[in-house]
Amino acid sequence: MHPDFDLIVIGGGSGGLAGAFRASSHGARVALLEPGELGGTCVNVGCVPKKAMWLAAGIARQLSVAGALGFDAGSGALDWPTLVAHRQRYIGNIHASYRRRLDEAGIATLPLRARLLDANTVECADGVRLRAAQLLVATGGHAVRPAIPGAELGGISDDFFRWTAPPGRVALVGGGYVAVELAGVLQALGCRVEVFVRGPRLIDSFDAELGAQLAQDMRHAGVRLHFGHEVAAVERAGSGVRLRTTDLGEGGGTWSEPFDALLFATGRRANTAGLGLDAAGVAVNERGQVIVDALHATSAASVHAVGDVTTDLALTPVAIAAARRLMDRLYGDASDNPLDPDGIATVVFSHPPIGKIGLTEVQARERFGDAVHVARAGFRPMLDALADSPQRSLFKLVCVGQERRVVGIHLLGDAADEILQGFAVAFRKGLTLADLHDTVAIHPTSAEELVLMSMPVAEPQPLPQ
Ligand SMILES: Cc1cc2nc3c(=O)[nH]c(=O)nc-3n(C[C@H](O)[C@H](O)[C@H](O)COP(=O)(O)OP(=O)(O)OC[C@H]3O[C@@H](n4cnc5c(N)ncnc54)[C@H](O)[C@@H]3O)c2cc1C
Repeated sequence: MHPDFDLIVIGGGSGGLAGAFRASSHGARVALLEPGELGGTCVNVGCVPKKAMWLAAGIARQLSVAGALGFDAGSGALDWPTLVAHRQRYIGNIHASYRRRLDEAGIATLPLRARLLDANTVECADGVRLRAAQLLVATGGHAVRPAIPGAELGGISDDFFRWTAPPGRVALVGGGYVAVELAGVLQALGCRVEVFVRGPRLIDSFDAELGAQLAQDMRHAGVRLHFGHEVAAVERAGSGVRLRTTDLGEGGGTWSEPFDALLFATGRRANTAGLGLDAAGVAVNERGQVIVDALHATSAASVHAVGDVTTDLALTPVAIAAARRLMDRLYGDASDNPLDPDGIATVVFSHPPIGKIGLTEVQARERFGDAVHVARAGFRPMLDALADSPQRSLFKLVCVGQERRVVGIHLLGDAADEILQGFAVAFRKGLTLADLHDTVAIHPTSAEELVLMSMPVAEPQPLPQ
């Protein structure tokens, strides 16, 4: 074979770009295929525009607190198009920076969709065929609507980022992080939000106690939460829509009041359909995700995959770290350097934000039984206390054994997103409760609660052998 490139990267999102840049820095000849905007989901319809809206929502909250504290905060009205223009300008700068860096690195960037013909050959949408010694599949995923009548009348998170004005009443379907984040943003920016959740709680991969406190905080902010409600159908109602929901507890279905807008946040699917993975001998699971091992190898020796197209945690830093480590092995001199899935911190940009690293209390008890001890601090942050706002924070440490090694850190409250990163480093180094107690607090902060938390009186049991 006479390869045109050492590496062809399929997809120019978080994982694909990181892989292309790192491979090229090791001297590999790289081509990157991306039919959409550079940066993929994170930059265009994910982390970045979401965080911009979340920051704006934070300002709205500060304005209301300011009023409560005696400031003349004026109307505080938001001109939505101005906010969106700032957001999109910021994103435009990221695109320009990627383009410049790709040019500087000499990466051949083709604005085309790709399909694998075999484990070394890619066919571009214009019919041109390219060959490479290695392929990297980094095609990400897309949001899916549920298979119910009228689903096409609702949008997905991508549509939210296209809105040119806020709707008055919004229904969100789903209880995962996307639903929770969009609900918080929309409510803070002046919409009336209702969330329909099939299960009994929000963000069920997070600690249940914090999920319950978040639900309470969201209710205080005015969001209406409907648990145990499955949306069975959608139909037009005037210029908006209404939803038929089934109450999973009591049975029976009812039609909702009309909403101006409806968003489904009911999950995402890997972008593998029509990608030619069969032809290349790349195996996928029953959900269409590429099956990879800890080193991101697929069932085809010359094809690797990273990011949301795989079974990895669907987070930008995970896709980036996986791609960089892979390229350090393929083209640098790194040996086995798998990601530790237990040491990854993650945050949901709810209002207030919630973050975690390690095991929830339930997971820890399943693994370590009676050796688990939990410390918690529930408190009203100083600003909320000053403004007499009911919002509360809840921090929780899950520890095991007589040494009280910390196996889970769970934070709900303002600044949880910023606090967690530093503690994640300590967590990965084998943090114990004694280490926290040895650390002098920074006062007055929310973060100090983590180093001041005490354990309940009972002695923890030794770890099971
Ligand atoms: C609303 C929302 C909010 C989020 N917020 C956060 C957050 O706060 N923090 C966080 O860490 N993560 C967040 N995420 C998740 C994060 O965006 C993803 O984990 C990340 O973008 C995955 O990167 P990726 O490279 O795997 O895929 P993507 O970024 O999706 O990139 C895949 C790229 O492949 C391209 N592609 C698809 N098919 C082909 C093909 N056949 N040929 C060529 N190119 C193709 C696509 O056009 C796309 O650009 C969020 C996601 C959403 C939806």
